[in-house]
Amino acid sequence: MAYTFYPSEVIDIIDETPNVKRFFFKVPEFETFDFYAGQFVMMDLPLNSKVNTRAYSIASAPNNSNTFELIIVLKEDGLGTNYLWKNIRVGSQIPVTKALGKFMGPRPASFDTDLCFVCTGTGIAPFRSIIQDIINHNIPHKNINLIFGCRFQHDITYRKEFEALQNTLPGFNYIPILSRTGDESWHGETGYVHRVYQKLYADATPCTFYLCGWKVMIMEARQNIIDMGYDKKQVKFELYD
Ligand SMILES: Cc1cc2nc3c(=O)[nH]c(=O)nc-3n(C[C@H](O)[C@H](O)[C@H](O)COP(=O)(O)OP(=O)(O)OC[C@H]3O[C@@H](n4cnc5c(N)ncnc54)[C@H](O)[C@@H]3O)c2cc1C
Repeated sequence: MAYTFYPSEVIDIIDETPNVKRFFFKVPEFETFDFYAGQFVMMDLPLNSKVNTRAYSIASAPNNSNTFELIIVLKEDGLGTNYLWKNIRVGSQIPVTKALGKFMGPRPASFDTDLCFVCTGTGIAPFRSIIQDIINHNIPHKNINLIFGCRFQHDITYRKEFEALQNTLPGFNYIPILSRTGDESWHGETGYVHRVYQKLYADATPCTFYLCGWKVMIMEARQNIIDMGYDKKQVKFELYD
């Protein structure tokens, strides 16, 4: 597919975890970089490979400016992410597309069912965007469960932010779950994301499920949720590969 790219400038980089960075971009060509929560951009990287484009979900909410944030995990032997880690600094230029994708669609006037966001790793990006958007626009909603799976405590992204939100955003429930056990300083959930939504929605409370991340987790979750009695239209997903 042929994309149109626009010059963007990296305006900040934050190390979020040992192998995840937050990249902040500005697209000077636009006064505002328009997008819906849940959309992604494509980057064009000089990889000299058959495919030089990579997709990244926007992790920030639309903010009437020409800036946005991405959260990217370093993939061992990954061409694009190793390029970003080795070559990209504040001030670097990267061509990016306009926002693409239909994961969550335009901002609704209200959410009439519970929202259950299920993700692993950087799959949290679109959910951070939508949660910030709900707050910024005071969107009426019911319960919002954010289930975030990773291996170790040091892999948890945006931890303080979401812990704090539990005290301020009505109905918001943040459930990080670690797949590696043996950490005595961890008092939260352990295991895989699946057991959390299976427990929370065992009574089939009306809910729209949004799943984001790598294929294996998503396909298993989608099937589980359908097996729990939910219609497949209530299960939306964004695959990272
Ligand atoms: C909609 C969407 C949103 C995403 N959002 C995020 C995000 O927010 N954060 C994040 O960390 N990751 C995200 N990803 C994953 C991201 O696009 C990359 O796959 C990931 O960063 C690894 O890239 P890499 O170049 O390091 O790995 P690589 O393994 O080098 O390449 C990754 C992928 O690029 C394609 N590719 C590479 N070379 C070829 C080739 N020669 N021929 C055909 N295909 C090729 C393949 O699909 C491959 O799996 C998202 C993916 C999608 C589809």
